[in-house]
Amino acid sequence: MLIAHLPAGYVTARASGVTKGPLLWAALIGSVFPDFDMIWFLFVDHGAIHHHKYWVHAPGFWLILAALILPWLGKPARNAGLIFLAAVLVHIVLDTHAGGIMWFWPLSDHLYTLIIVPATQANWVLSFILHWTFIIELAVIAIAAVLFFNRKTAP
Ligand SMILES: [Zn+2]
Repeated sequence: MLIAHLPAGYVTARASGVTKGPLLWAALIGSVFPDFDMIWFLFVDHGAIHHHKYWVHAPGFWLILAALILPWLGKPARNAGLIFLAAVLVHIVLDTHAGGIMWFWPLSDHLYTLIIVPATQANWVLSFILHWTFIIELAVIAIAAVLFFNRKTAP
């Protein structure tokens, strides 16, 4: 997924009944948080390892982290943590369609991919944009836009 993670975070928030405030921010940050590993991927590993092999793209990591931290949090922080984790999970699910995710980590580090996007163009980004799966991204963006522009504003 290239451009629809943040809109997916907004859809996640709205699906959870959240329209504003800290919980919306938790969802938006969670929706893009796994891709902050691109900083390490580009500037430390110099592309040597697929960035979906880092812990932030492993559902098992988040499951372990949630089990260790969430029970100790008070209700407001736990709610923020839950919506953050929901947005991270949506990010990971959306990355699975064409990107590959280690769904069974720590038991396996195999990247599971639903659809292989062939390298039809010299630039991999163009290959993704011109592949039919890009419609999924456009659909997520359209849903988020409809939700955003039809939100109820405070009186
Ligand atoms: Zn990602």
